Amino acid sequence: MAESLQSQLRKHLAALTAAGVEFVPVAPPAPAGLFRSSASESAPDPDADRRRQLQVVATDAAKCDRCPALFSTRTQVVFGGGPVSPDILFLGDAPWADDDRDGQPFRGEAGALLDKILAAMGLSRAEVYLTTAIKCRPPRNRPPTADECGHCRGYLDRQLELIRPRAVCCLGETAARALLGVSGGIRTLRGQTHDHAGTPVVCTHHPQEVIQNAALKRPVWDDMLRLLKLLGRVPPAK
Ligand code: SF4
Repeated sequence: MAESLQSQLRKHLAALTAAGVEFVPVAPPAPAGLFRSSASESAPDPDADRRRQLQVVATDAAKCDRCPALFSTRTQVVFGGGPVSPDILFLGDAPWADDDRDGQPFRGEAGALLDKILAAMGLSRAEVYLTTAIKCRPPRNRPPTADECGHCRGYLDRQLELIRPRAVCCLGETAARALLGVSGGIRTLRGQTHDHAGTPVVCTHHPQEVIQNAALKRPVWDDMLRLLKLLGRVPPAK
């Protein structure tokens, strides 16, 4: 491109010389601010306010002591993370030991399997929001109680309002019951599309269950295909 401009300039100067022009006046520099580079023009971030409000909710949760048994044994509150307006928000039951240590949900073996499932769906961890029904690890990874889920519900509701996922995927029975307020087991809750405040919800087995029972791989994948279909997406070819 630079050579082409140089070549054009030479030809233009040669034409001017041939026409008898002996000098070309130099233009004064443009006034400061007349031209702005595209790098200096930063478009306003339409999601900045939602991100700021999410940070406020996370800061509130970090100080929460509503569940005495969890408050006294947790290392930290695991709020969750990911982009706002994702295609999918994955909801687990509670932070596990690795999550409690790292401050992020879905670490460890179950998280590694979730990463593989996401990759098979054509997604990455960075593209989805990951959180749990309660934000503090129960001692010895026991399931959260209904009371604990109730105490934490306000944080989850605010997350859903601010994150606005196109679909929610509940991983495991506890997460499904906590979000949907139903009492059925995961085998009856999966295989259909539920609704939460206008957002479609698909329920499936928790990755930890799949680690313990390989026969669940097929039904979990069927649920992921249901999720992708809802979103108008197709999994990448293998
Ligand atoms: S689980 Fe939720 S409600 Fe209970 S102490 Fe932790 S942040 Fe608070």
